[in-house]
Amino acid sequence: GKGLAVFTSGGDSQGMNAAVRSVVRMGIYLGCKVYFIREGYQGMVDGGDNIEEANWSSVSSIIHKGGTIIGSARCMDFMKREGRLKAASNLVTRGITNLVVIGGDGSLTGANLFRQEWSSLLDELLENNRITKDQREKYKHLHIAGMVGSIDNDFCGTDMTIGTDSALHRIIEAIDAIVSTAYSHQRTFIMEVMGRHCGYLAVVTALSSEADYVFIPESPPTVDWRDKLCYKLEQARVNIMSLYYLALVAALASEADQVFIPEDPVPNNWVEKLCKRLQQERKSGQRLNIIIVAEGAIDREGQPITAELVKKVVVDNLQQDTRITVLGHVQRGGSPSAFDRILGCRMGAEAVMALMEATPETEPCVVTLDGNQAVRLPLMDCVRRTKAVAQAMADKNWDLAVQLRGRS
Ligand code: ADP
Repeated sequence: GKGLAVFTSGGDSQGMNAAVRSVVRMGIYLGCKVYFIREGYQGMVDGGDNIEEANWSSVSSIIHKGGTIIGSARCMDFMKREGRLKAASNLVTRGITNLVVIGGDGSLTGANLFRQEWSSLLDELLENNRITKDQREKYKHLHIAGMVGSIDNDFCGTDMTIGTDSALHRIIEAIDAIVSTAYSHQRTFIMEVMGRHCGYLAVVTALSSEADYVFIPESPPTVDWRDKLCYKLEQARVNIMSLYYLALVAALASEADQVFIPEDPVPNNWVEKLCKRLQQERKSGQRLNIIIVAEGAIDREGQPITAELVKKVVVDNLQQDTRITVLGHVQRGGSPSAFDRILGCRMGAEAVMALMEATPETEPCVVTLDGNQAVRLPLMDCVRRTKAVAQAMADKNWDLAVQLRGRS
């Protein structure tokens, strides 16, 4: 059977195990010899016990576990050709020419580069007598299929990444707990949630927790928010998953005066608007306030809006009893939601199918979710778009960032 290996790389997320399990079992079902590679690219470079044949039962009882049982790592060695040469040698000597990579855009970029170099890596290995002529010929094509594991939902080309839904569950559980105590003491709570350059978690959290305010790196604030809201909602209808849409729906649902996100940061008068909003809420009888801050929230000048800063604003101006909760890695842990388990299963099966159907000309693909269908998209197109979003954010071109994030 064909040699196929699966590994997880970059940051972990819930649901990765479901994907690993699915790849292993689908691979075995289709007659492949399937391997785990432990600790991401590091295990591929180091070889030895890190690359281990998997069987049907080696992926039993893992679907409900968070994180990744085969480990994940950042790997400097793989960034250099020398490291990739070792990795190629470790794969060829085991007859592995099909790779399923579960990671973020960095991991997928590395896989793409590896494939581009494959031929020349094998030539060099042959020259140095590290592989035989037979092996050079037999394993001359490397096939790649990727999947995105990330709680941030920050990858272009997919409606959801593996782990986002579970993270949201974790956050909502925490907020529900906080709300009950905040109510008792009439407190204001500021919750920082993850999502470095992507306000998805913050926005969806705000939407599902009735937050009063949300600061995220990419949305429309300003004075005439009502007009803008209607206008943007119309625009957004064409682009149902764009962050604008979510931000605006969140604003509507939570009756926020403003939305603060990283791709369209707040104007300078955000302090007044925030205070006015909180005061109004208390006057109308609400016993608590919840403010969601994405870890990447910034203002128009690009200055970070941190939970600490928001707290200072609230305390200095309103003298409200204000506390901060930074959820941190709790969001990435715990058992995966049903959605993430099934997403991992479906994507894993599709990734193996893609590899088995690949011809020498087939470009690397990434399996994504598009309107509840697991589909294959050209890997590098999606990576390029994802990187273009980061660039647009760095250039303070938030409209472009949001546009690029939407479905193509
Ligand atoms: P993520 O996959 O979550 O974006 P990283 O960007 O840290 O996380 O990438 C994970 C690993 O993928 C890196 O530690 C490195 O081993 C590999 N990698 C990332 N970018 C490249 C690249 N341009 N070339 C080769 N390997 C890369």
